[in-house]
Amino acid sequence: MTTITDALVAFLRARLDETEATALAVPTIEGTVPPAHFKQSTWPKDEGKVLMGTAADFPVPTAEHAAHIAAHDPASVVADVAAKRTLLAFHWTHIASTDEGERPGCVVCGYVTGAGCPTLLALASAYAEHRDYDRSWALPL
Ligand SMILES: [Zn+2]
Repeated sequence: MTTITDALVAFLRARLDETEATALAVPTIEGTVPPAHFKQSTWPKDEGKVLMGTAADFPVPTAEHAAHIAAHDPASVVADVAAKRTLLAFHWTHIASTDEGERPGCVVCGYVTGAGCPTLLALASAYAEHRDYDRSWALPL
């Protein structure tokens, strides 16, 4: 029996594979500079600009922009993908006997509505604009 949760898992695995592949495609650099970092320029003409950089620093608008970019460096993205894959591994389908017959449910979330694991629905909502996202997965408001 293929369930909504099975479809969600396949969809999420594909998105995580894409995200990880993009992160791993970022070239690494030799030396002691991390792939993403930021610092405040000490060059007087920069007037305290924040520099975001890899091998050659470049200015970014604000320290908040730089912090955001640094938080999404390839290593952070790969760690996030690994954590989400662990969530996927925990939320698997079981078939429960109910008054209405056998219904698929999530072993962690405990639902047996057949509407899909709410945790996976929430994870999938981050990709709601993806062409493969099924609008029936939208979380109820
Ligand atoms: Zn679940």
